[in-house]
Amino acid sequence: MGSVKRPQGTNQGTVAALGAVVALLLVPLVAFSQPTSRNERLRIAEQQYERANRLRADLDGTPETQRKEKDYLEIVARYRRVYDVAPFSARAADSLAAAAEMYHEMGKRFGEKYWQEAIKTYEFLRREYPHSRYRDDALFNVAQIQQVYLNDPKVAQATYEQFLKAYPTSRHAAKARERLKEIEVEQASAAKAAEKLPERAATAAAPGARVQVRNIRYWNAKNFTRVVLDLEGEVDYQKGRVANPDRIFFDLFNTEVSTVLSGKSFDVEDGLLDRIRVAENRSGVTRVVLEVTGAEDYSVFSLPNPFRLVVDIRGPARAELARKAEPEPAAPASEKAEPPKSTAGAALPQPPSVPQPTREGNHTLTRALGLKVGRIVIDPGHGGHDTGTIGPTGFMEKDLSLDVARRLGKLLVEQFGAEVVYTREDDTYVPLENRTALANEKQADLFLSIHANSSRKSSVRGIETFYLNVTNDPEALELASRENALAQTSVHELQDIVRKITRNEKLAESRELARGIQESLYKELRKRSREIKSRGVKQAPFVVLIGANMPSVLAEVAFLSNREDEQLLKSPQGRQAVAEALLAGMTDYMKSLNSASFARTDEKPEPPNPD
Ligand SMILES: [Zn+2]
Repeated sequence: MGSVKRPQGTNQGTVAALGAVVALLLVPLVAFSQPTSRNERLRIAEQQYERANRLRADLDGTPETQRKEKDYLEIVARYRRVYDVAPFSARAADSLAAAAEMYHEMGKRFGEKYWQEAIKTYEFLRREYPHSRYRDDALFNVAQIQQVYLNDPKVAQATYEQFLKAYPTSRHAAKARERLKEIEVEQASAAKAAEKLPERAATAAAPGARVQVRNIRYWNAKNFTRVVLDLEGEVDYQKGRVANPDRIFFDLFNTEVSTVLSGKSFDVEDGLLDRIRVAENRSGVTRVVLEVTGAEDYSVFSLPNPFRLVVDIRGPARAELARKAEPEPAAPASEKAEPPKSTAGAALPQPPSVPQPTREGNHTLTRALGLKVGRIVIDPGHGGHDTGTIGPTGFMEKDLSLDVARRLGKLLVEQFGAEVVYTREDDTYVPLENRTALANEKQADLFLSIHANSSRKSSVRGIETFYLNVTNDPEALELASRENALAQTSVHELQDIVRKITRNEKLAESRELARGIQESLYKELRKRSREIKSRGVKQAPFVVLIGANMPSVLAEVAFLSNREDEQLLKSPQGRQAVAEALLAGMTDYMKSLNSASFARTDEKPEPPNPD
């Protein structure tokens, strides 16, 4: 303890006051350090222990979002005091175990430093009370924290081995052996990947020039979670999935973690993805671990400029198309994942303010039309620095798509009271992977992406509507590579992803929606120009449609590379016609859903059996 130095030149009154304060501060310490009887100490310890247990029960009863770090710390302090007052008490080991458990929980909530505190407390407990009933639990928990939360498989391996040697018959022994096996498998696969690495790494980057892992973003919906890893450049990576606990991991080679991400974890807890952890596992290798629950499948694809790895985790497919009445989703989850400001450009657009929300809207919609569709996401293609295709006189696809989207949204709100969500509401760039993720997060019923086509032959005109699938059509692949801003080779990689996931997608519904829109666009625009052709409903691997949980299509409403089409789209009347045609196409689709449901309910009951 430092001594209070008497400041020079201070008047007597102040010094006296200071002395009084110091005396007051000392009172509890003095009282505390007075030797009290053993029984008195036991009584105090028991009191503290019970009080701590009560506070802990209260905290457990508090909604998770309202639990504060200081509440945890207060409870931990009370448990620790039990040991301080009466280390000989039977409650001392109980209290240390409880304190360690609290730290364990705090690690999940408040960050890595509490994992260290948990380990220290477990170790202290084992050292001070080597015969307590907590001894094997404590060591097993230490190993688990080292493996799962601190991402330190080597150290965890040693601890599990120590555990098995000390407690071969513990109830955790089987699990410890399992964990050891997992670590071996992970190490072997990482070593194998590292062997393959040098020759590829040599071309990718000079040694020492590591690629930074800049950010992690995520969106969660009911049975779909998208995680995006933002990287400074292209990387080699190794992925895997291990059980108990179920987790998907990525080792990103020749990378380093940005300071904002270092040692960080994100609690997602959306029922599919529990947590994301990121750490530099060993020098130059970043490990990202996704702790999942009930995930059926996952897929990964990469996007360039800037390089991103997009991980989609999927749960069991939804049985119902109709959205159940559910509370409004909370603020976009991505905000939680984004360090302040560093990634402002990549943030999702705020929910639109123009269309009114829509309890009444849904109500009107349901009552007047009996439609099953309430919330529609309209995605104006491109935006910001991404202009899309540009017409002969300079009309840009990004401006066309935004204007048509606004017109269509207005019609949907006015005529159906539908709730409309835009992926962008102004001339900003929104990454493709954010767009479907938003639709899923909003639990939209339909997703429509609006684009305009382009061809090297200026005479080509017409309308195409796409849904997500693999294709062999070279023209469709070329279009996909343009709309995805991907090289053709990457589009082929994308086909593999799409092949893998289409069984989970709303394929049949999307095709129906595409058909409705295609027919309606053709019918409407042909009135304005006899030369417009229907190029049909097509399929292609569009990034913006990947992972959508709802029927989703991409409409190429015209060829902006054609002079006549450009003139048509440059006129407000032309764009209004496109919007009305899109509305009519969506309506046809919605009505077909509706009549299908009537068909079911209108079925005549079987005649009753005679008695
Ligand atoms: Zn486009």
